[in-house]
Amino acid sequence: MKNISEMKFKSDITIIGAGVVGLAIAAQLAHRDRVVYVLEKNERFGQETSSRHSGVIHSGIYYPHNSLKAKLCVEGNRLLYELCEKQGIGYKKLGKLIVATSDGETGHLHELMGKGQRNGAEGLSMLSKREMRRLELNVEGVAALLSPSTGIIDSPALMGYFAARAKEGGAEIACRREVAGIEKVSGEYRVTVREADGGSFSFLTRVLINCAGLHCDRIAALAGIDTAGAGYKLHYCKGEYFSVGNGKNKLVKRLIYPVPLPKDAGLGVHITLDLEGRMRLGPSVEYVDSIDYSVDAWHKQAFYDAARKMLPFIEYEDLEPESAGVRPKLQGPGEDVRDFVIRDESDKGLPGFIDLIGIESPGLTSSPAIARYVTDMVDKMLM
Ligand SMILES: Cc1cc2nc3c(=O)[nH]c(=O)nc-3n(C[C@H](O)[C@H](O)[C@H](O)COP(=O)(O)OP(=O)(O)OC[C@H]3O[C@@H](n4cnc5c(N)ncnc54)[C@H](O)[C@@H]3O)c2cc1C
Repeated sequence: MKNISEMKFKSDITIIGAGVVGLAIAAQLAHRDRVVYVLEKNERFGQETSSRHSGVIHSGIYYPHNSLKAKLCVEGNRLLYELCEKQGIGYKKLGKLIVATSDGETGHLHELMGKGQRNGAEGLSMLSKREMRRLELNVEGVAALLSPSTGIIDSPALMGYFAARAKEGGAEIACRREVAGIEKVSGEYRVTVREADGGSFSFLTRVLINCAGLHCDRIAALAGIDTAGAGYKLHYCKGEYFSVGNGKNKLVKRLIYPVPLPKDAGLGVHITLDLEGRMRLGPSVEYVDSIDYSVDAWHKQAFYDAARKMLPFIEYEDLEPESAGVRPKLQGPGEDVRDFVIRDESDKGLPGFIDLIGIESPGLTSSPAIARYVTDMVDKMLM
């Protein structure tokens, strides 16, 4: 990282936040003939939500048709597999089963299949109990939806790749630099940055992109947006994970999910496997007032009860508290699902300011597609 005195005090494009989304955008936008800065408040990139997730490459089943979530997830799924192949980023296309555990749930399963097919999720098929058992001998249920294009990815390696590509293109990723002020000045933005060592400085940028994850509503407010009026108020929604030990990871080959409840803020507690084959249960859904990554051991019983319905081989003793993430949700408790907001804010009097708000799941999957989407916006702005 360059010393700040070496940074030019004017940039073409500034990206706030070096999570997977900000990095993917930087990788796509960085050219030698443009000055691109990425400002990150933490010591290193990717330390918040982008390293506290399930690591799943989703296929695009759950999201409302024509939503950004559906379109960008389906496109991102394809782009990520291509990228992993070409760049040697670790991944496994394990496939996933969404399992109905009662006859009442099979109707929902058919609805999900229709939704997924309309969205363009690849290769979905409905399985009878017998067909499901042929694939996953140890899973309990009455029917299942198979999604063969769901997989898992080495997300630190993905972020490392995006960061390297951004730097190759000439972008500057400046960590320990927190955006503390945004002021519009004659067609540009003056960005004030607080440095971790106590200093501060400001510079001008033509295009400013808000990829601040759990803090994106604060950044939008700094730019002068009435976040409540715009519908940008975030709700923090915590998801805890429990690891599953005692060799139980050998008993399934795919990711196993329940049928989600309507209006649920998550996909239901599910089984994921990582690239080393470790098994986890989660994430749960709990709206919280503040960001806190502790895991409450008292929640073990609820995880056990949820898992046992589909995975009767799991014992209470197999579970250990593991980790947690916090979703930056626009959907409040009991409210309807909300789409990603990815907007050029010209109509709010902020030309050149792009907001990315509520980039929860499937944000990891969608990241390369979001980068393309935002690049189209920026190219028009800089024309
Ligand atoms: C429990 C859980 C499970 C998930 N599972 C999946 C999954 O399996 N598949 C999937 O596709 N998606 C999943 N997601 C969603 C995915 O993790 C996110 O959509 C994605 O990581 C968001 O990336 P981001 O770059 O937008 O945000 P972040 O990773 O949060 O990055 C934002 C960055 O902005 C920085 N920042 C904030 N404010 C400032 C400031 N003022 N100045 C400078 N920097 C600032 C932060 O420090 C942070 O590094 C999951 C999310 C959660 C919580």
